Amino acid sequence: MEFTAFNLHPQIAAGVQEAGYTSPTPIQAQAIPPVMAGRDVMGLAQTGTGKTAAFALPILHRLMTGERGRVRALVVAPTRELAEQIHQSIQTLGHKSRLRSVTVYGGVGVNPQVQKLKAGAEIVVACPGRLLDHINQGTIDLSHLEVLVLDEADQMFDMGFLPDIRRILKHLPAKRQTLLFSATMPPDIRTLAHDILRDPVTVQV
Ligand code: AMP
Repeated sequence: MEFTAFNLHPQIAAGVQEAGYTSPTPIQAQAIPPVMAGRDVMGLAQTGTGKTAAFALPILHRLMTGERGRVRALVVAPTRELAEQIHQSIQTLGHKSRLRSVTVYGGVGVNPQVQKLKAGAEIVVACPGRLLDHINQGTIDLSHLEVLVLDEADQMFDMGFLPDIRRILKHLPAKRQTLLFSATMPPDIRTLAHDILRDPVTVQV
């Protein structure tokens, strides 16, 4: 299978080239079509499978149409390192898109994040704690959110972030697409998936 089969926006297809990807990985082959079709997806995949591009490419494709300057996609990840990696992948895959991705995590100053959010971004990649701070301080507007990704959900559960995730969810539009990625399916993640995914497509590698 080839990336051309997905009919990605030309500026996003250019990002695939920039990244040097020649053919989709199994998780990409399975997940990209339903995500592009707007379906909720439960993805059972480990790091190293290409799961980042499996959600990043369809999100970038979607955001090429419609309004700029509002946060339309939010990726929540357990650690700063993972948030940075996701942000970097989005930058590479979206280098021709002029879409803006901002990272939001603790342990660094809040003001640069506030400035970048004010300047306008379509994608936010966040860790739960600092994201909640921004929500509570009113420094992030998620009222136009269209797509939510919870990445490495089992890690977030292990790190005790599920209560924060539930709090974040209360501030998001109910009408949205939700993608949940996890390497394992402990009962708490199964419950979360049941609560937040609507008629999901499950993909597994
Ligand atoms: P991930 O599982 O998203 O952390 O990706 C693992 C690594 O695989 C990263 O270095 C990606 O850049 C790379 N990668 C993702 N998709 C592809 C692909 N289709 N072809 C080659 N490398 C890829």
